[in-house]
Amino acid sequence: MASLFQTPITALRGVGDKKAKLFERIGAPTVGDLLYTFPRGYEDLSHPIPIRMASPDQPCAVRAIVTRVPSAVRVHGGVTLYRGFADDGETVFPLTYFNNPYIVHVLHEGEEYLFYGKVTFLHLKPGMTTPEFFPAASCPPVRPIYRQTEGLNSRTIQQAMKQALLLLPETVHDPLPEELRASRGLCPLRQALEDIHFPSTMQALEKAKRRLIFEELFLLQISLLLLKNGERGESGWRMTQDATEEFWQLLPFTPTGAQRRAVREAVADMAGDSPMRRLVQGDVGSGKTAVAAALCWQAAKNGAQAALMAPTELLARQHFATLSSFFSGTDVHPVLLTGSTPKKERAAILASLADGSAQVAVGTHALLSEGVEFARLALAVTDEQHRFGVGQRSALTAKGHSPHMLVMSATPIPRTLALMLYGDLDLSVLDELPPGRTPVLTYAIPSEKRRRALGFLRRHAQEGRQSYIICPMIDEGDDDRASVTEYAARLRTEELPSLRIGELHGRMKPAEKEEVMTRFASGDLDILVSTTVVEVGVDVPNAVVMMIENAERYGLSQLHQLRGRVGRGSQQSYCILVTDAQNQEAVSRMQVLCSTTDGFRVADEDLRLRGPGDFFGSRQHGLPTLRIADMAEDLSVLRDAQDAAAALLRADPTLSLPEHRRLRRYAQRTGGGQPAG
Ligand code: ADP
Ligand code: MG
Repeated sequence: MASLFQTPITALRGVGDKKAKLFERIGAPTVGDLLYTFPRGYEDLSHPIPIRMASPDQPCAVRAIVTRVPSAVRVHGGVTLYRGFADDGETVFPLTYFNNPYIVHVLHEGEEYLFYGKVTFLHLKPGMTTPEFFPAASCPPVRPIYRQTEGLNSRTIQQAMKQALLLLPETVHDPLPEELRASRGLCPLRQALEDIHFPSTMQALEKAKRRLIFEELFLLQISLLLLKNGERGESGWRMTQDATEEFWQLLPFTPTGAQRRAVREAVADMAGDSPMRRLVQGDVGSGKTAVAAALCWQAAKNGAQAALMAPTELLARQHFATLSSFFSGTDVHPVLLTGSTPKKERAAILASLADGSAQVAVGTHALLSEGVEFARLALAVTDEQHRFGVGQRSALTAKGHSPHMLVMSATPIPRTLALMLYGDLDLSVLDELPPGRTPVLTYAIPSEKRRRALGFLRRHAQEGRQSYIICPMIDEGDDDRASVTEYAARLRTEELPSLRIGELHGRMKPAEKEEVMTRFASGDLDILVSTTVVEVGVDVPNAVVMMIENAERYGLSQLHQLRGRVGRGSQQSYCILVTDAQNQEAVSRMQVLCSTTDGFRVADEDLRLRGPGDFFGSRQHGLPTLRIADMAEDLSVLRDAQDAAAALLRADPTLSLPEHRRLRRYAQRTGGGQPAG
């Protein structure tokens, strides 16, 4: 089986280089990957209903005899319409197809078919327009529906899948040890793969799912535990000198109890024999940067080096500025390394890291690039870790000799879940905001009230406060979504000509972005019109209004993150969600934000509204992509998988027994942030 993951998708008939690109896009560059590309849903054809029972606009299966083969009835505007009739025993209903001359030859009068599609009612009379159809005698009971991409539809994927299944060796190697399967009544891999794609019955499908969900979570747990075990016992850098009190004295504020606790926990880890593996989770504004700074200080004061990696250039620069100001007047000098660091400067920085004279490096993933070497890297911190995969996390630690690792995340997830998802990390929670913060007041308004809202922004500007306006697009597009460039131009010329307006988006050069951000941070701009690039970590305490255009376009967690850009000082702050969306889901999202500023509650609601699939699938959480399991719904399986994985690794810590060889291969593929399978 493992070899199918080395078999390129082009091994399948009808898949050339061009198609292969499309298969790659759906995550299936190899035959093995294709087999692990599971349907997003199924059409149940096993329960056909009479057409008069159909609900409007719900797809359903109708079994009927063709009484008149569709024929071209009308031609206008280049469209040819084919109209025929079928009889389900109770009702004779029209069948309509467009521009499909073949239909005349593939449907036969007097024969029975299963038609699948939506039923539409015209003057209360039901009919079907472009339904799929199968000869009733040879109709599959359940049909898979795959996520399609442009140029590659579900049907083509289905055909490829049938071939891929034929390539499964007769005795497919199952990564799950026999004993494990037997004890849980899980079906063999081959059967699971066949039934997940082309189930003979709904029960067979459930069985296949159960097995594959267990497999996925089990492999994930195995790979996390292998990661953790592999590092355990290796000597970390023992930092026995506690320099944190000294650091707290450097701060312009008093640390919160939560900040002190998180730092204390990490400092204790770093004084121990094995390397720290810790996750610090704290809502936006809870003060994670100071925690990171404290630990970098601790490393430096113990004669070692620390690296702090941020997901964007902007954020890296900001962290650099923050750390530089905390450390000013001391002998700890941070350096900044990003993709746009000039060559000459870069060479000097690399030299100072390599000889150990620079104690703290702040940067983007440029820190991971070749040629970056540390003399004594003892601590690797990654900020906003949901932007980095597990792989990048370990790439940074690979720059040192088993350095301590701290991951910081602003995504609140329930504690039990976090413990399992970050199976390899210990957890500190910053559950306390710095004092003096007043919760951000949030309002949702329709776009017709925008004018008034802008007046509100103007009044704040007159009092010396600043605002953000977020637009979903950079340039004007062909729909009516707001764009940064156009919006900023309109504010300058028409709506708020007296104010100083800046704009910021991802297509600007880093230097330009930095200039704008610096001007905004220093109060030189009243309003910053921006895309969501300001979402991550940007900190300007004097900004008090966050206005979000087309708010319906963002998920709850993202809106919460954006809102977190204001309310950072002692002033009352506001978040204005501009949306004309009427649908229930969007309205609920706005209501949640208007009613709470608690990130954990927002996350819970996000989970509830979006459904766990989308929530975890949105890749916001740095989790490995799961193909079938559902972290929230399959919690009990996750627990079981975790216990099973732990037990197995206790018996065979490196998976070197012959019966575990396949398992090891699979688990290696699962690790490193790569999708399972
Ligand atoms: P986040 O957790 O979102 O990364 P930051 O580290 O950016 O939060 O901190 C948000 C703001 O709160 C910053 O302006 C920071 O200076 C300030 N801050 C952090 N800790 C404290 C504290 N203990 N007391 C007062 N202000 C603080
Ligand atoms: Mg931050």
